[in-house]
Amino acid sequence: RVADRSLMVEVGSGTLLAADSQDPLQKKKKIVILGTGWGGISFLKTLDCKLFDVQIVSPRNYFVFTPLLPSVTVGTVEARSVTEPIRRIIRKKDAEFHEAECIKIDPENKQVICKDVSELDFERKPEFALDYDYLVIAVGATSNTFGTKGVDEYCHFLKDVEDAEKIREQVVDIFETASLPHLSPEVRRNLLSFVVVGGGPTGVEFSAELHDLVHEDLLCLYPHLKDNVTITLVQSGDHILNTFDKRISQFAEKKFQRDGVHVKIGCRVLEVTNKHIRFKSKDTGQLVDVPYGMIVWSTGIRTRPVITDFMKQIRQENRRVLATDEWLRVKNCEGVYALGDCASVEQRKIVEDIADLFKLADKDNDGYLSAAEFVSTMEGVRVRYPQIDLYMNHNHMKGVIGLLDEAMNAGDQGTTKLDLEHFSAAISKVDSLMKCMPATAQVAAQQGTYLARSFNHFAQGKPAEGPLHIREQGHHRFHPFCYKHLGSFAPLGGETAAAELPGDWVSIGRSTMWLWYSVYASEQVSWRTRALVMFDWTKRFIFGRDSSR
Ligand code: FAD
Ligand code: MG
Ligand code: MG
Ligand code: MG
Ligand code: MG
Repeated sequence: RVADRSLMVEVGSGTLLAADSQDPLQKKKKIVILGTGWGGISFLKTLDCKLFDVQIVSPRNYFVFTPLLPSVTVGTVEARSVTEPIRRIIRKKDAEFHEAECIKIDPENKQVICKDVSELDFERKPEFALDYDYLVIAVGATSNTFGTKGVDEYCHFLKDVEDAEKIREQVVDIFETASLPHLSPEVRRNLLSFVVVGGGPTGVEFSAELHDLVHEDLLCLYPHLKDNVTITLVQSGDHILNTFDKRISQFAEKKFQRDGVHVKIGCRVLEVTNKHIRFKSKDTGQLVDVPYGMIVWSTGIRTRPVITDFMKQIRQENRRVLATDEWLRVKNCEGVYALGDCASVEQRKIVEDIADLFKLADKDNDGYLSAAEFVSTMEGVRVRYPQIDLYMNHNHMKGVIGLLDEAMNAGDQGTTKLDLEHFSAAISKVDSLMKCMPATAQVAAQQGTYLARSFNHFAQGKPAEGPLHIREQGHHRFHPFCYKHLGSFAPLGGETAAAELPGDWVSIGRSTMWLWYSVYASEQVSWRTRALVMFDWTKRFIFGRDSSR
């Protein structure tokens, strides 16, 4: 019974907005959303704004479709086509937007302090405070330089539309400058040396786009520069695209080799000066200085200062990222939720509860689990631990009976009853497929939708039914957030792309690029941006990329 209760509490903590059933006379609860990126916007789009008093704060009054940013850097797609104004998104919603940056979160007083980001020169107080009942943090992250000297001064990042536009301008600038008659061949070559740091999807896609730009468009317009352009991709790991399937990363490496993109694997950048970038090969220890005309730095993300400060206040200072539980509630802080790149979900391992689970399952208290005891318990807790379903799907099992078979048949001659040791051995395997959720738009968007649906449901005080619910002894509770990976793409240039789809399915080639076009067209936030993006693609097919600054 005790075990029963403790597990119930754990499961029961899925009650998101406890004691909050709607009294029509009661004032609407205030929700403040920080950020208008993937997480913030997907939350906002799903939230029923009539049920709450909703305020959104972000220093940018638009949403950016980040997967197309690498295309913006070379003019395949225009910057305006990948952004959607927030004011258009909330036009028919009951929500208020404030263009400002949150500079402090004050959980004690349930307040956020914001600062206006306008450069208008007239007298005013730049800061204001907003009260909240629920705070949804979706501020994303910044680029990580790992403290490497010179990166902030001399490198471009690729996080936002402004970054992409700056890169585009500089590429054209470099080609025009390199065409001037008075340059020495060496200066010309150095100027036309492009370096990309980071062999993840963004770095690889940017290198591929840059290669296409140079070979499909610029070399017709600047034929005299043909033999002077180099593209170098520096990656500290052993392979580029190392989070992808091996077949994809090998294909990408081979393709880059054929295309003449220099891939430097196992190299760590030590410093960047105004003339060259210096890196060290891990294997040989050799130092290499490469002169450059432009560097794009894309090596991962880091927590924003406002979040680091918030983490100190809520005793999370020893962590690298803000931690939430599986209901996206920030740990140690009531009423605050976080999602997307600024937070990470601490998923509960089933081994951590193994003793409790065993006690709960062993209804007759004989120290063994019968088949019936095993099955009914696992059925009861499978929503609490999404890894159970993940494991069963992965091993093509039909329900928890499969798990039972596996547990009973482990060992030499098999058994008909499980003791704690057998039970742990069988169940701990289930945790092995649990993965950290990646920092992607896909995760942020699914989290936003999940959280908004939970909010809607509780605020409506509706009978809790539907896919989000666990029904247990008359109580309705929410499922923990469970990420569904729908696959990932890596465009590799020359109208080829690689895709990794669920179920170990890898596809590489031109048809995959068409799949990419159709998926990204359909994922657009509005018909307006969808039309703009498709128009840009068509324009590019017919006329090539625009090389004017
Ligand atoms: P963001 O989308 O970064 O949004 C953060 C928001 O918070 C922004 O609106 C920002 O202005 C705002 N903000 C910042 N500071 C504050 C503050 N102090 N107060 C208030 N608001 C603030 N993912 C994929 O799944 N597929 C892809 O193909 C893909 N391609 C990518 C390509 C590029 C070039 C980049 C940079 C990223 C790509 N990603 C991709 C990753 C994806 O963009 C991120 O994982 C996603 O944007 C995370 O969403 P978010 O809401 O957490 O943060
Ligand atoms: Mg966001
Ligand atoms: Mg964004
Ligand atoms: Mg981000
Ligand atoms: Mg028993």
